[in-house]
Amino acid sequence: VLSCSSHEASPLSENKEHVHGISEIIVGVLGGGQLGRMLCQAASQMAIKVMILDPSKNCSASSLSYGHMVDSFDDSATVEAFAKRCGVLTVEIEHVDVETLEKLEKQGVDCQPKASTIRIIQDKYMQKVHFSQHGIPLPEFMEISDIEGAERAGELFGYPLMIKSKRLAYDGRGNAVANSQDGLSSAVTALGGFGRGLYVEKWAPFVKELAVIVARGKDGSMVCYPVVETVHRDNICHIVKAPAEVPYKINKLATDVAQKAVGSLEGAGVFAVELFLTEDGQILLNEVAPRPHNSGHQTIEACYTSQFEQHLRAVVGLPLGDPSMRTPASIMYNILGEDDGEAGFRLAHRLIARALSVPGASVHWYDKPEMRKQRKMGHVTLVGQSMGVLERRLHCILSEQSHQVH
Ligand code: ATP
Ligand code: MG
Ligand code: MG
Repeated sequence: VLSCSSHEASPLSENKEHVHGISEIIVGVLGGGQLGRMLCQAASQMAIKVMILDPSKNCSASSLSYGHMVDSFDDSATVEAFAKRCGVLTVEIEHVDVETLEKLEKQGVDCQPKASTIRIIQDKYMQKVHFSQHGIPLPEFMEISDIEGAERAGELFGYPLMIKSKRLAYDGRGNAVANSQDGLSSAVTALGGFGRGLYVEKWAPFVKELAVIVARGKDGSMVCYPVVETVHRDNICHIVKAPAEVPYKINKLATDVAQKAVGSLEGAGVFAVELFLTEDGQILLNEVAPRPHNSGHQTIEACYTSQFEQHLRAVVGLPLGDPSMRTPASIMYNILGEDDGEAGFRLAHRLIARALSVPGASVHWYDKPEMRKQRKMGHVTLVGQSMGVLERRLHCILSEQSHQVH
């Protein structure tokens, strides 16, 4: 089923006369979650047309997209049919049918970033192998396929030991920690058993988590966003502070590692590089996302070019925009479902009401049809003169008793 908000979608050639945006290319996005939604928002400013492919009729991006094909982004025939309607294909989620993307690329379909990149990234173990082969520093890791292998890994790397599922991971849902040898089998069970495809990582004793968004244009040019600090709670991104408060040397190292990591991948778009900063000043790569990312939401208000606009510029072949900050400081706070259903909505709405009365705060609500505990429902971005001021303002938003703040 293809529903179009305003125009009947048709192949680009037939559609040309209707296209009056900055670019005539229709951007096809696999996935219609909040990242797809914010891509649509950025696209509307430049009158770039974004079509999304997502199985949920009420997905976040649906109401803002030029067209929504309601179907699976993990099904070959569907992705092929979708590709025919678009001038360039991109993703807002990496768990897509990569074989079909590879096939389409051979037929001349423009996929950005390249299918090879999606293939490497969607398997976290393959990703680790790739980056280690390219000399990127990362926590030691090894594949495990039985309990003896897991025990060997525990002896080698020590405990706590991070066990990860190779595929389909997000928001920590493919991670389990074993605190001792006794905890190995329950951690493996929690992840769905060895059959799911598991590997282990040595625990990274980080003092901070950092992230860098790197954008690459179609002409190969690259720009890096300022290094940010990400704070996770229960493995889920919770708060992002930009810029990260780290010494110049660390800032430079993080940017260099991120740029080198992205340099080893093919294609245009934005890439988010998640990093660990260790006590002894090392930067280790955690993972890369080949798309806009939670660690870049604050770029909408805090940077001259948001990560979403940047991604669109990159994949349609426009010049890249200025990634630098236009405010001294910003904090992004994720609104996670605190409860299922109505109770969760009530809590979120109270938080939003408080945020709306805080200067420099912008509220984003993703309009997801269902409220679930721990689900990303929206976010608030605070911009202002200093991190200290913003921390106090965030505290006001988070405390039930808060009133007007200035
Ligand atoms: P995302 O939503 O970012 O895709 P994910 O499910 O892919 O998350 P990871 O990024 O692998 O999960 O891990 C989530 C968090 O768990 C990290 O941000 C970090 O806080 C913690 N973590 C991951 N790997 C390690 C490690 N080797 N040592 C210590 N902590 C880790
Ligand atoms: Mg991940
Ligand atoms: Mg991650």
